[in-house]
Amino acid sequence: MRAFAVLAIGLVLGSTAALAQPKSAGTPDPRLVEDLVAANRVLVDLGVLDGFGHVSVRHDKDASRYLMSRSMAPALVKADDILEFDLDNVAVDAKGQAVFLERFIHGEIYKARPDVKAVVHSHSPSVIPFGVSKTRLRPIYHMSSFMGLDVPVFEIREVAGPASDLLVRNAGLGTALAKALSDKTVVLMRGHGSVTVGTSIPQVVFRAYYAEMNARLQSEAMRLGEVTYLTAEEAAAAAKTNDGQVMRPWELWKRKAMKPE
Ligand code: MN
Repeated sequence: MRAFAVLAIGLVLGSTAALAQPKSAGTPDPRLVEDLVAANRVLVDLGVLDGFGHVSVRHDKDASRYLMSRSMAPALVKADDILEFDLDNVAVDAKGQAVFLERFIHGEIYKARPDVKAVVHSHSPSVIPFGVSKTRLRPIYHMSSFMGLDVPVFEIREVAGPASDLLVRNAGLGTALAKALSDKTVVLMRGHGSVTVGTSIPQVVFRAYYAEMNARLQSEAMRLGEVTYLTAEEAAAAAKTNDGQVMRPWELWKRKAMKPE
């Protein structure tokens, strides 16, 4: 009896979901798709992504849509694998393919932050210690100046309780994560990974890489003794300079990643 009730509710919800299927905002700029494909591979080459993690970009024709690959290893992503999502993280047409469980990270941040045009979620290893200890991730050199004075940590336990699988697998958790990110560029996820945001694909890749690099260098520097960090003013000034420089490494990384084998 109960099984039948669940099935009936499932059918009703299923038909509602079908009605709510979002319309496409149209074909995105092919150069944007090309850069998104490249970003997937570059982030693997740089050790930010591995078999896991994802990168998305806001649709160039509609700010209420974003583009991201179907659920798959980032190094294998091709243009055909890129799907369009609305900000409730529903795929316009998933083409029968699985989508990422943690897509809520992306939609909820795009909703909360109109300035954000690209998002990277990774499990890059060097930042993990800063999410689980009392030591804050802070910029120790100019390349990571975009982090500001320090980096916030999202404690999923405060929202999901003591027994979650740590994944941002629904809109409520995505909203809470976006709140922890606030107006910053990076947020760490305790016992899980991090999220980096930016105003373009080249910038978000730059930031995801140098956040990871800063974590590695900060851990090394702390072993040597007392560490001198950037001041808030130095961080702001250096971040402004770097924003004019993101295309230089991007062109290099992209060319290497897309080189025919
Ligand atoms: Mn994850």
